[in-house]
Amino acid sequence: MTTLEKGPAPAGQGEPLVVLSGVQKWFGQLHVLQDIELTVHRGEVVVVIGPSGSGKSTLCRTINRLETVGEGTITLDGQPLPQEGKALANLRAEVGMVFQSFNLFAHKTILENVTLGPIKVRGQSKADAERKARELLDRVGVGHQADKYPAQLSGGQQQRVAIARALAMEPKVMLFDEPTSALDPEMIKEVLDVMVSLAQGGMTMIVVTHEMGFARTAADRVVFMADGQIVEENTPEEFFTNPQSDRAKDFLGKIL
Ligand code: ADP
Ligand code: MG
Repeated sequence: MTTLEKGPAPAGQGEPLVVLSGVQKWFGQLHVLQDIELTVHRGEVVVVIGPSGSGKSTLCRTINRLETVGEGTITLDGQPLPQEGKALANLRAEVGMVFQSFNLFAHKTILENVTLGPIKVRGQSKADAERKARELLDRVGVGHQADKYPAQLSGGQQQRVAIARALAMEPKVMLFDEPTSALDPEMIKEVLDVMVSLAQGGMTMIVVTHEMGFARTAADRVVFMADGQIVEENTPEEFFTNPQSDRAKDFLGKIL
């Protein structure tokens, strides 16, 4: 992990970008998201932590509308999330998502994985999309792998391709749902380093992770969830050294 601290947000940033207001969601009887209020500002990095089953993945998935909500509203850049069609495809481009499993297209090359969305959804020419993809692949350190297939790459390399693929859509916000938890230990750092550099470059990020080093280095705010609720939120420094709720104290006692 780099020792660089995150600098102040660049000028012109800081207005609300993602706003969840009174969000409720049920899976049958299970009240999985309970009155969620969360505002993520442009350029902000929010780390979401909490026990397994607390609703962290569901929260992420509502923001790019992989899940619908029962009540409440979610806006991106002041606009309610679209319901369907082209607008929904655009939303999925504007909200980049990186999952625990890399989800690359197995039968496409690394370069094709990154250019597909920009060509199909963003309407870029093949030449433009490829130029941009090669730049992004260089940036995440896998430029020399562009013509290989996903299975020929390590897990850490595949996850960096997944990040490049999301970035190629020029997202307004990036969601990461436990992006390193399926990786062998020696590959975790290379993925976290890419995420830290994105954060330092001013990308708005919502990151579900138990990597406390990342939270301390890159997060502006830690949101702690338990049983479908946001129980506590604070700066990483305050949250880790002085958690307020019993739930957070108990959780930190188990993972630190
Ligand atoms: P986390 O990511 O914090 O581990 P999740 O958001 O994945 O939590 O899950 C929250 C709760 O919702 C869990 O109890 C889980 O079993 C349940 N859940 C998640 N997805 C579904 C689904 N599609 N249908 C029914 N229950 C679900
Ligand atoms: Mg999860």
